Amino acid sequence: MILFIHRKDLRTHDHAALEHIARRQQMSMHIFIADPALLTPVRRNEHSGLHFLSQVRRLQELYTQAGRRLHILYGEPEQIVDAILGQYPIREIMLGRDYTPYALSRDHKLELTAERHGVPVTSLQDQTLIDLEDFHAFAGRKEPYKVFTPFYRKWKEYVELFFRPPGSVSVSDLHTVDLEPEFLERFRLPFHLEDYPIAEEPGIRLTDFIEDDLHNYEQGRDRYGQEGTSRISGALNTGALSIRTVYQQVMGIPEGEAWRRQLAWRDFYLYQSVFDPDFYHYEQRYDLSLLDDKLFSAWAHAETGIPVIDAAMTQLNVTGQLPNRLRMVTAMFLTKNLLCPFPLGEAYFRLKLADYDNAPNRGGWLWSSSLGFDAAPYFRIMNPVNQSEKFDPTGGYIRRWRPQLADVEGREIHRPRPHAIVDLKASRERAIGVYKEILGSRTTISSH
Ligand SMILES: Cc1cc2nc3c(=O)[nH]c(=O)nc-3n(C[C@H](O)[C@H](O)[C@H](O)COP(=O)(O)OP(=O)(O)OC[C@H]3O[C@@H](n4cnc5c(N)ncnc54)[C@H](O)[C@@H]3O)c2cc1C
Repeated sequence: MILFIHRKDLRTHDHAALEHIARRQQMSMHIFIADPALLTPVRRNEHSGLHFLSQVRRLQELYTQAGRRLHILYGEPEQIVDAILGQYPIREIMLGRDYTPYALSRDHKLELTAERHGVPVTSLQDQTLIDLEDFHAFAGRKEPYKVFTPFYRKWKEYVELFFRPPGSVSVSDLHTVDLEPEFLERFRLPFHLEDYPIAEEPGIRLTDFIEDDLHNYEQGRDRYGQEGTSRISGALNTGALSIRTVYQQVMGIPEGEAWRRQLAWRDFYLYQSVFDPDFYHYEQRYDLSLLDDKLFSAWAHAETGIPVIDAAMTQLNVTGQLPNRLRMVTAMFLTKNLLCPFPLGEAYFRLKLADYDNAPNRGGWLWSSSLGFDAAPYFRIMNPVNQSEKFDPTGGYIRRWRPQLADVEGREIHRPRPHAIVDLKASRERAIGVYKEILGSRTTISSH
């Protein structure tokens, strides 16, 4: 029998592990582990946790509809696996590969536990369009790509040659086995999953986007007031939507190029997280002592007096959504104009973003703070007022999220309020000097 552990693959079809189990022609036991280290009480009540648990709830419903059972257990993953291996005749453990520092240490412990029981662990890559190791070999480079454009050229070549169409196996094709009630009781959730709404079917949003907005994506994506993007990142990051299913629907469509490029950015950040040993450690490479957290709270609570920043942070705090352009503008404002260290903003987004995912979030913060590879040059600092005038000319977005400014007329809507916490010009100049010094302090880390 195979033990299959769902993680960031919350779906029941077009799924590498389910296909693997079907090929093996064995019975399987399917579980999801609510890990206390990831689903802390705070996180469970913030948008990132709410969204994730809504997807778990939907997954459980999909199992029920297929006449199968998904067991949801709460506890340390290696302890749960140890208990299952001690009680059930498991011959193999299956899981999707995951690359964050926490995931790597968790999986190492899982492997040691499995080894003690003499059970092999098979982990399959199922998050990206490219197989990361295979792509690296295909590219034939000594050093991995650090810059997106050449990566993207090779990515397109690879995907054209090796794209694997969606699989046809569904969980209803498998013979699943249930855990006993006494066992389930030992690892019962300390909260009610029923309190979380069932996430919507993500395929509908994708189809609507392809029909209505794909052709205009390149022009429309930054017009954040008009919601011209797909808004499927949350479904992709939790694996509710398979990246293969998504890609198949847009492959070959000439006007889909700009959007496919964004899917490549997603792969690029995961690739970086695997091949750039500093990806999760850049803050240790610089002397950040010139930065502090004095103005962080005003930023987080939408009290900066810069209308577009406060509107964006309000949208984020209320809904867990934030368009890409405004992620860049708010991140750059925090790290440059307010001189706060990027890990503070990164941690805030980790809680607040409904589509939070470690690699693209860190990639976005490294880009905005100019501290990673292929990042925004430190002297090119977005001016939030200019960004607002350019991408939201009528100020409709600001009026929507800051109703207290709804009566401000014309271009004045974009301008800093009298109580603004920084002067944009002076803080920009100060930031250029400070970041020049920070970048000059760069050191190499020999071990992590
Ligand atoms: C500071 C900062 C933090 C970010 N944090 C996250 C995060 O936690 N989770 C997350 O999924 N994305 C993050 N992004 C990337 C991007 O903002 C979101 O992926 C995008 O806004 C999702 O909206 P969408 O699904 O409508 O994207 P679309 O514009 O429709 O793009 C389609 C898909 O391509 C991928 N994509 C698009 N833009 C990017 C990008 N810049 N980088 C990587 N992948 C991209 C996403 O998977 C997205 O769903 C962050 C960006 C910045 C600047």
